[in-house]
Amino acid sequence: MTDTMTKEQRSRCMSRIKSRNTTPEIAVRQIVHRLGYRFRLKPQKLPGSPDIVLTRHRAVVFVHGCFWHRHRNCRLVSMPKSRKAFWRKKFAANTERDGRALRQLRKLGWRALVIWECQITDSVRLCRRIQGFLQG
Ligand SMILES: [Zn+2]
Repeated sequence: MTDTMTKEQRSRCMSRIKSRNTTPEIAVRQIVHRLGYRFRLKPQKLPGSPDIVLTRHRAVVFVHGCFWHRHRNCRLVSMPKSRKAFWRKKFAANTERDGRALRQLRKLGWRALVIWECQITDSVRLCRRIQGFLQG
């Protein structure tokens, strides 16, 4: 990916995400904010209730927990040992709902970016991705 960040944006991205108590949602918000974008938090009823809505860019960002949303091939995803049938059904419903939300958003003319919980730690890379998405 071409590096289209300004010097200032890059240095802002370099500054590490604070505190390990920071939730993935807050970490992503910090990055979007540092990049200079203004956004709203769930201001309107959109399919899947995206975590961040950039109305002017007609773009939304989801921050998904790997376990609940079943990130493929992710080390954070495991299957509970008991009540397997129950969990399988529940997880299938989650991923089905996620897919449906993305399709509906696309139909309504919104672009969507999905960021997984496990991708939060590499803030520079995440910054680039978010920047690329919002410019795209
Ligand atoms: Zn993951």
